[in-house]
Amino acid sequence: MRPARALIDLAALRHNYRLARRLHGGRALAVVKANAYGHGAVRCAQALAGEADGFAVAFLEEALELRAAGLRQPILLLEGVFAAEELAEVARHGLWTVIHHEAQIEMLERTPLAAPIHVWLKINSGMNRAGFLPAAVEPVWQRLQASGKVADITLMTHFARADEPQVITTEEQVARFDAATAHLPGARSLSNSGAILGWPRAHRDWARPGILLYGADPMPEEKHVLQPVMTLESAVMAVREIGTGEALGYGGRFVAGRPTRVGLVAMGYADGYPRVVPDGTPVAVDGRPARIIGRVSMDMLTVDLSELPDAGIGSRVELWGRQVAVNRVAQAAGTIAYELLCNVKRVRFSYSD
Ligand SMILES: *Cc1c(COP(=O)(O)O)cnc(C)c1O
Repeated sequence: MRPARALIDLAALRHNYRLARRLHGGRALAVVKANAYGHGAVRCAQALAGEADGFAVAFLEEALELRAAGLRQPILLLEGVFAAEELAEVARHGLWTVIHHEAQIEMLERTPLAAPIHVWLKINSGMNRAGFLPAAVEPVWQRLQASGKVADITLMTHFARADEPQVITTEEQVARFDAATAHLPGARSLSNSGAILGWPRAHRDWARPGILLYGADPMPEEKHVLQPVMTLESAVMAVREIGTGEALGYGGRFVAGRPTRVGLVAMGYADGYPRVVPDGTPVAVDGRPARIIGRVSMDMLTVDLSELPDAGIGSRVELWGRQVAVNRVAQAAGTIAYELLCNVKRVRFSYSD
């Protein structure tokens, strides 16, 4: 069997959730959208079910998957609904939904519901992606109350740059949110992972940790208190020597400057490993540091084993995990850990408690 697999450490997930909750105070929705950032939404939610105050997903179908698996905790739809009919499902399954634009209020107003629902009113405090402008917040809040369809309103916003400790944007967003909601009752929720870790003044009633649950610290000065949840690994399946001046792989990007021992690894971009990484991108072979040489192809990639004479066929290769931080690979790929983790596919997943 092909040795490519993703090992998911559910104890690490629980550790990170507890840490988020403790750092923030109050309650925390574990964000498990996008299949729990590629880790498996049902398994991750089940692992957190004993302690999570609730979950957040992007949209209805993601929430229904969790309900079908027997999860009974509150689940928030971060994008809200796309059509009025979805509101009946929201009410039937006791889901919570974000309302972030006018059309969603209209859907709520015209749809009969079996029971009033818990909505999270999203305020655009400066990211300018989703949410009501500060001046619209009170009238929208009144409309939601007047609709008779709403049991509870939580006030929320989302930060554009919480992972940048040096910029003032987050402070400005907090101030705008506070001013817009000063006269309204109800719980508040501002903080994603970056704000949980770096912006104590943004801590309110509910945190919404995502990436930090999976052990990738979004802040530039990683404090190494998070535990990586996913280990993406495979093994060396063949070894060859190439001579000085010989090219390796597609495009001949890597040309050996000396006799080079090349390990062929069963992992490629079809598994979600990024094709764009340059020569020198770190991996670990049998626990020792090594580097990628040559272009990543669909099913395979190549590593330099010249300094690792004991390594050979069957040697374990970690692409990311405890030895190679996913943030380092993301940096090499010119992206963020979020994207790499969400992209993992085709490999076997195995879970440990
Ligand atoms: C995805 C998401 C989060 C989680 O963000 P992280 O940076 O992964 O912690 C929180 N809030 C909202 C609205 C989101 O869409």
